[in-house]
Amino acid sequence: MNYWYQNQLRMLQTVLREPDIINYDAKAVAEYMKKSNANVLVVNAGGIIDFFHNDTELCHPNQFMKEGQEILADLCEELHKNDFRIITRIDFRGAQKYRYEAQPDWFAANPDGSPKTRNDGLYSPCYLAEYANGHAVRFVKKLMTKFPIDGIWENSVAFGIGPCYCRTCRETYKADTGKEIPVGDDYTAPLFAEYRAWKEKKADEHIVRIRDTVKSFGDDKAYSAEVFSMFHNSIHGGIDVFASRHFDYIVGVGFLTGSVSGKPYDDLTNASSAVRFLKAIDPHKTTVLLTGNNGTRWRLVKDPSQETRIWMWEAVSVGANFWNCMFNGQYPAAADDRRNAYIETDVYRYLKDNEKLIQGQTPVSDVGIYFSSASRDKAQLEKDKSYEMGINGLEAVLVDSHIPYGFITDKDFTLERASAHSVLCLPNAMCLSDAHIEIIRKYVENGGSLLASYKTSLFDENGKSRGDFGLTKVFGLSYTGIQKDTSFDCYQMVRLPSHEITKGMDADKTIYFINGGNTLLTTPIDKNGETVCSYVPIIPNQYPEQAWIPITETQFPTVYTYKYGKGQVVFFPNQMDALVYTNGHEDYYQLVSNSLNYLCKKGWSLVTDAPDSVHAGFTKHLDGGSYILSFVNVSSSGRRAIRQLISIPGFNATLRIPARELISVRTIYSSPGGEIAQAGAAVLGSDGLLEIPLRIPSFKEFFAVTVEVKS
Ligand SMILES: [Zn+2]
Repeated sequence: MNYWYQNQLRMLQTVLREPDIINYDAKAVAEYMKKSNANVLVVNAGGIIDFFHNDTELCHPNQFMKEGQEILADLCEELHKNDFRIITRIDFRGAQKYRYEAQPDWFAANPDGSPKTRNDGLYSPCYLAEYANGHAVRFVKKLMTKFPIDGIWENSVAFGIGPCYCRTCRETYKADTGKEIPVGDDYTAPLFAEYRAWKEKKADEHIVRIRDTVKSFGDDKAYSAEVFSMFHNSIHGGIDVFASRHFDYIVGVGFLTGSVSGKPYDDLTNASSAVRFLKAIDPHKTTVLLTGNNGTRWRLVKDPSQETRIWMWEAVSVGANFWNCMFNGQYPAAADDRRNAYIETDVYRYLKDNEKLIQGQTPVSDVGIYFSSASRDKAQLEKDKSYEMGINGLEAVLVDSHIPYGFITDKDFTLERASAHSVLCLPNAMCLSDAHIEIIRKYVENGGSLLASYKTSLFDENGKSRGDFGLTKVFGLSYTGIQKDTSFDCYQMVRLPSHEITKGMDADKTIYFINGGNTLLTTPIDKNGETVCSYVPIIPNQYPEQAWIPITETQFPTVYTYKYGKGQVVFFPNQMDALVYTNGHEDYYQLVSNSLNYLCKKGWSLVTDAPDSVHAGFTKHLDGGSYILSFVNVSSSGRRAIRQLISIPGFNATLRIPARELISVRTIYSSPGGEIAQAGAAVLGSDGLLEIPLRIPSFKEFFAVTVEVKS
């Protein structure tokens, strides 16, 4: 049997401020949901401010709540009448001073015993003390006994920032490890390594404890909590995106604006990137992307409207549901800023109209990006962005080239999973375990194609240096131990201008391509590889007369191809993928893109002449048989935030998928004109792949077509 949370979730979260309870109108909320095609409401229950009457010790009722008023009871009645679901938000990130003073032992403490406080003035709890445990459990039980709600969402769950020295923590740590909790200014230092691992375990136990409390009310009650994306690690709070494996549906937070440091607007494709990643955690669960206004910093005004629509389409284009948390007030049409009220309607209608088809869609992944949480954590402990940038750059190439891709995480990496991809990519996957190195070796030996870069496999999964690449035999290269700063005045010498990897780069007209970032000096272990490009030492650009050096040719590759077993490898000893993102020079883009094409022997399952400003989502149903090909158009002035889209003329797209016969091609969304895709005659190739030529018509914002095949 299917529980409701295994079906499509078109969510609306209303972020209630204290006075929003005055004249609360549950009927109007249900009306808004009906009109916007939402089917799940997420609404405040309490923790910091309680939106229902309860007599839990340390309860803190909303000061505007009237005697006898129960908005959750009203909502349960109105929503259930309409077959909608209601999830309530709980939040134990902190409590007001008077509550702390009533039970100081229930909260987190500094080494001197003083309370840990937050910027917003609240007193912090920790995962172990009574407030976030006994109290939280009693609170959830009270809430779920009193109202027939359908689930709980735990907001701000990574609340235990840094070390805690409360009595419970000190005693438990001593009992578990025989040691005192270390004291020091830098929580990222090795001094805290053992404590951080311990805390991660305790944070996980907290999640399980709250989840089990919810589940004690029935398997149909859903639990989830607030986790972010792949690059938000668990170092400070002990919880990262992988905690979502405990949830009934997989949900991650992805803000369009205001949440990326130094950038007002996130990359538009990060909505789909986040979803591809969430799908890798568990493709069998419903996947939801949660988004809010302006990173919540300017939470009272709308996000840019056109960008918000693009953000939503990007997410659904790779098989996600959506969680609209964009509004403050009773409901979006009754907020201070109502300009984006109903903005989700078109997207939710598309989801609703095609629910059976869309539910269970997961990205077709010709390319699998190996996600190394060990490398992410190492990089972030060292305040180094190189891991993140490597993935960002590789994804930029994949998106612009319309190559179908997905992630495989180091939490459940197997040879079978690796082998399901035409090309396996390890962008700067520094930290690899012996077991994973052996899987990768076998994968290539058996005929797999591998693209890797920079420090991949130089460390074990605990961040300990291996001295040389763990994958030396597979790369055909050995590390000299010398790393060169090649960030300026550096080049790659073109050694093989006719190679497939330098195709389309006018390589016969140049001696050099650009180089940047850092470059590892590596030497070939035998003569079975090819140096496509090589490292050039610094050629100072000033003074101009001296912009030359006597010898520019070296034995150190920057692009190296190697045959290992039946497989093929391309290795970049520099930061080629990251440089696509940070610098963006077309040389980097072209070298990565050509390498992918070179490695993909059987061709991609999607080939299109759509321009780069049209992003493709290509998904298949877990049960097989149906595919959805969708396109998000971002053609515009080229400046963020996008205010205006330019309609895109028609283009061609050819699918090559494992099937015997084409059953149907049906356009399921076309804006604004409603023109449909035309299919040419499908041809079954000798490789067992069915080739389906499609003509995609002109459209402006989003286009989707479903293809049904017999296998
Ligand atoms: Zn504590």
